[in-house]
Amino acid sequence: MTVTDHPRYDTRLDRYVDSYAQRTNGMRVSAVRALFAVANRPEIVSLAGGMPNIKDLPLGDIADSMAEMIRTRGTQVMQYGSGQGEPELREQILDVMALEGIVAHPDDLVITAGSQQGLDLVTRIFCDPGDVVLAESPSYVGALGTFLSYQVEVVHVPSDDQGLDPVALVETIARVKAAGKRIKFLYTIPNYNNPSGVTQSARRRLDIVAACRAAGVLVVEDNPYGLLALDAEPIPAMRSAADDVIYLGSFSKTFAPGFRVGWVLAPHAVREKLVLAQESATLCPPVFSQFAISNYLANHDWKGQVVVFRDMYRGRRDAMLSALEEEMPPGTSWTRPAGGFFVWVTLPEGLDSQAMLPRGVDARVAFVPGSAFYADGQGARNVRLSFCFPPAERIEVGVQRFAEVVRRELDM
Ligand code: PMP
Repeated sequence: MTVTDHPRYDTRLDRYVDSYAQRTNGMRVSAVRALFAVANRPEIVSLAGGMPNIKDLPLGDIADSMAEMIRTRGTQVMQYGSGQGEPELREQILDVMALEGIVAHPDDLVITAGSQQGLDLVTRIFCDPGDVVLAESPSYVGALGTFLSYQVEVVHVPSDDQGLDPVALVETIARVKAAGKRIKFLYTIPNYNNPSGVTQSARRRLDIVAACRAAGVLVVEDNPYGLLALDAEPIPAMRSAADDVIYLGSFSKTFAPGFRVGWVLAPHAVREKLVLAQESATLCPPVFSQFAISNYLANHDWKGQVVVFRDMYRGRRDAMLSALEEEMPPGTSWTRPAGGFFVWVTLPEGLDSQAMLPRGVDARVAFVPGSAFYADGQGARNVRLSFCFPPAERIEVGVQRFAEVVRRELDM
C-alpha cells in the first residue's frame, strides 16, 4: 500500500472536506516523502532521498563553539529578531555568494527558513491563481509543490544536456502570452539541477537572462548546490551578471539542513515585499539557527568543510557512474553531473518508472520515478538516482539491483 492509498487520505473519511480552501486541491503528498518510510528500511538501498551526508561534521568542535555562543550572547539568541534576518549573518552571506561571483548589499537579503521558504515567499508575493510559472524540464519536486499550492499553472520549458534551451524558452513565452496568460517568473536551477544533475552553460545563462528581460519575465535562480562542484570550479551564478535576478541560497548542503536557514537576494522593492510576507508567515526567521550558522561561519573552517563534502560526494558520484556503466542494459542513458547529488536516468523505450517502483522495492532498491519532477505527466521513462547519502559500496549494490529490475522489465 502506498501512502496515498492509506485510508487517512480518503477524502470520503475527511469530515472537513467542504471547508478547505481551494488551494489545498493543488497540494500533493510529495513523492519523495511518500517513499521515505519504505526507503528507510535497512535492507533497502535508497537511491531515492536527497538527504545530504553530514555525519562527518566536526560535532565536538561545533558543540563547544555553540556553548560559547550561548554563554557570550545570552538570551539574545533565543529572542525574537528582525523579520529580514540578523544583520551579522546577512553580512556573512555576502562572502558566501562572492564565491559565485555575486556582489550585493546586505540590505537586499532576506533570511528564510531554508530556500524552500524562499520559494514559498517568492510565489506568495508574485502569484495569483491561474498565473503561469515557467520551469525547466524536469524541475525540483518541492518547488512544483509550492507553485501548485498557490494554484499556479506550471509550464515546462524543454531542456537538454546544457540546461534550459533559450530558443525553446522564447517560443514558450510567446505561446503562453498568445494564450492570454500571465507569466510571473521563470524558475531555474542552473547548477547541478535537482533532479537531472545538468549544469546550464555560461552562454545559456546570459541568453536566458536576456530573453526573460526582453519579455518582461522575472528570473528566479535557485542555487542550493552551487558550491558542490565536483569537477571544475563553479560557473558564475546568473545573479552575478544580472542584479534583477532573484536568487535563492541555502546552508542545507554546505553545512546542515536541520538549522533551516536559507536566503533570498532580490531587487530592493521586491525585498520589501518579501520581508512583509516573512513577517506574516513567521514574524522572523529562526533566530537561534541564524546565530548558530553565523557562529559556524565565523569560527570554523567552513570552506575547508565544503572541500571535504565535495571530495566525499565526488567518490560517490564516480561510484554511481561506473556502476551504471557496468550494469545497465543497452537502451538506457543517464546524465553525468559535474556537481550536486543526482543522476537522471532515461529507461529503454516502453518502460514506466512509476509502475516499476514496487518491483524495485521488492528487489530492495528505492528510486524516485521521473514523473514527480513534472507538473504535466512527463517523465514516465525517467528515474532520479541520488548518490549523496549511501556510501560507495551501497551505491554499487543499489545500482546492481536497479539494473536487474530494469532487465526484468525488459523481459516482461
Ligand atoms: N531547491 C532545490 C533545488 C532543492 O534541491 C532543495 C532541497 N532538496 C531546496 C530548494 C530546499 O532546500 P532547503 O529548504 O533545505 O534550503
